[in-house]
Amino acid sequence: MDPDLPGPQHGAPLAPAAPCDVQSILAAPDPREVLSRIAVVSLPMVTRFRGITVREAMLFEGPAGWAEFSPFLEYDVPEASRWLAAALEWACVDPPATKAATVPVNGTIPACPPSAVAEVAARYAGVGTFKIKVAEAGIDSLDEDCARIEALRAARPGARIRLDANGRYTVAQARTALRAFSRFELEYVEQPVMAVEDLAQVREEIDREGWGIRIAADESIRKASDPLRVAALGAADVVIVKVQPLGGVRSALSVIEASGLPAVVSSALDTSVGLSAGVALAASLPESARPDGSIPACGLGTSALFRSDVADPPLRAADGVLPVGRTAPSEERLSALAAAPERAQWWTERLRACWSHLREQR
Ligand SMILES: [Mg+2]
Repeated sequence: MDPDLPGPQHGAPLAPAAPCDVQSILAAPDPREVLSRIAVVSLPMVTRFRGITVREAMLFEGPAGWAEFSPFLEYDVPEASRWLAAALEWACVDPPATKAATVPVNGTIPACPPSAVAEVAARYAGVGTFKIKVAEAGIDSLDEDCARIEALRAARPGARIRLDANGRYTVAQARTALRAFSRFELEYVEQPVMAVEDLAQVREEIDREGWGIRIAADESIRKASDPLRVAALGAADVVIVKVQPLGGVRSALSVIEASGLPAVVSSALDTSVGLSAGVALAASLPESARPDGSIPACGLGTSALFRSDVADPPLRAADGVLPVGRTAPSEERLSALAAAPERAQWWTERLRACWSHLREQR
């Protein structure tokens, strides 16, 4: 806990001035006037992911409950401010009405040897969709990638399989890889190339060649205007959406609807608190984002990437699904996972900078 900020003894949420929305919340010049509790945590990860071994996050409690503000450390103030808008919405406003009580999650097969695939898949009881990480060594891993797809198909014959290349191919390499992948029945291939213009080119080629592979955009979507750009350029068949980068559940819902594309909700390596906002988004997806009527399996099973999470128990899938509802951190976990004072101070300054930025934009 930051000694500078209200602690557990001030636990009662403040009664906000009506109406309780983000714009009225931002009328306060200082976030401490609105947020009753603020904590900064540092979560050790099971393995290196996205180049990090520790995930830092700020959690705060507003009138509606606990929320997570966790833009990655390298993001500047304008980008991080969208994440703050999302966190403030979750802390201050109840989520839109949901259409489901649970949402399905996908299992993830990392770049492991093909012989280990069945064992990794066995950890995901009740899961019907798997994402296989491919292109770990670019085009050089193609043979092994195909062997892992075959191994998963053998271990889980009825499962949906999606691939994620994290933008590691060039356009020419993507052509080679997608031709090889076209023999498998796949749900989609996520971000085969990085640039959105290149994605559009790859997608055109898939159509021309008749490979029947759908493309999903993930890294191409970092802000609310991106799903619309992806749709306008015809760069993808599916958008991967995350609550914080898109500025909140409501903002995400409106851009998903405007894009007209099917959407798969994913985590931005959130703690259990942030994951619960992702679950709410998935459970309220518009019809246009659920073409076959069901909620596509979400990439929200990521609490398993942390050695320890802020909630007790953490928000983890049971029988392939996560429950809809708010998740609050446990006091013990907040203390045990508290970030070092200088890191808490860094996050407090970041909160203030983003708060000021959002206020200027009102
Ligand atoms: Mg991805």
